[in-house]
Amino acid sequence: MAEPQPDATTPGRIPCPDCGQTLALPIAAVLSGQPIVCAACGLELQVKREDSAEALAALGRWYEETAPARAAAAAPQSEPRRRRR
Ligand SMILES: [Zn+2]
Repeated sequence: MAEPQPDATTPGRIPCPDCGQTLALPIAAVLSGQPIVCAACGLELQVKREDSAEALAALGRWYEETAPARAAAAAPQSEPRRRRR
């Protein structure tokens, strides 16, 4: 069976270094330098922007590239149509 690997290979998800719980990575927050809080154990993950500049740059690129897909996924299936007269 092909199971997704429970590690940090999936963009947008990271394992908590303390309890191992998979955390959704709030990319917008990370990019703006805010800490990630583990919902399971309360650990605060502070991303060091200086140390992770390269990773953050890649993340930012990925975030921008996937933005249209995310917007499409978030959009309602049936788009409301305006009646024109
Ligand atoms: Zn945790």
